[in-house]
Amino acid sequence: LRVTLSPIHRRDRGITGTIALLQDITEQEKLDQSRREFVANVSHELRTPLTTIRSYAEALGDGALAEPQLAERFVGVIRNETERMIRLVTDLLHLSRLDSQQSTLRRRDTDIAEMLDEVADRFSVQMRKKGIRAVVQVDPRVGKAVLDRDQIDQVLDNLMSNAIKYTLEGGRIELSARLEESGALAVSVKDSGIGIPKRDLARIFDRFYRVDKARSREMGGTGLGLSIAREMIKAHGGTITLESELDAGTTVTFILPQPQTKGEQAI
Ligand code: ADP
Repeated sequence: LRVTLSPIHRRDRGITGTIALLQDITEQEKLDQSRREFVANVSHELRTPLTTIRSYAEALGDGALAEPQLAERFVGVIRNETERMIRLVTDLLHLSRLDSQQSTLRRRDTDIAEMLDEVADRFSVQMRKKGIRAVVQVDPRVGKAVLDRDQIDQVLDNLMSNAIKYTLEGGRIELSARLEESGALAVSVKDSGIGIPKRDLARIFDRFYRVDKARSREMGGTGLGLSIAREMIKAHGGTITLESELDAGTTVTFILPQPQTKGEQAI
């Protein structure tokens, strides 16, 4: 709380009173602090791949080019780090568009079973490589729902890529959809992966928060996937939650409210 006192001056009579201004600055300060943290995080996340790229480029210049096998490996590292930076900057652009509410939703009637089948298809090569089985389960009452397909595809891609990254060989991923009592659509991505420790759950949707920085980096993660998913679901007026048990698996569920069905519509 910030208290500002200003005396009230009256001609002839000197100070006749005081104006006290009470401002709740805690919210503002919290916002400023999280902004500062965010900029520091972004700088760090960009600096890391850049220093790697610089040192490998230097090594190539200093003679590694003469050894084709070594050179090929170094070029591979440079390419990987560049890809990571492109992913990071793309994610940051997504977030900034969501933050400034520049992205308007284009909601359309969408066949949910088809949408989930297509997600599973997009990741089939990656899953096959790890021997992971995917199951799609859609309650027949679901049918179509109204949503921005581009954004929800992005959410599903982020959740699926996490499920694959953090699930060991031979695991299982289940994509499912059902209707809530309210008529809202609930979609879950459930994996049989490594899970998340209880103490990390509260911060898991924070920007750049990772349980295991090294593992996330190794897997090519940016630490922004879940926060982007949350922003997109929020833009739909929905909610997203994550449940997890260490060494057992993780389930992420998002709920999208639906406009009233025709039969119930108020006239
Ligand atoms: P990242 O790019 O690091 O995967 P995310 O924002 O998508 O970033 O996820 C944040 C962190 O949450 C991850 O680094 C990981 O530690 C944890 N996490 C997310 N999804 C899962 C999952 N399905 N299983 C286990 N851990 C997960």
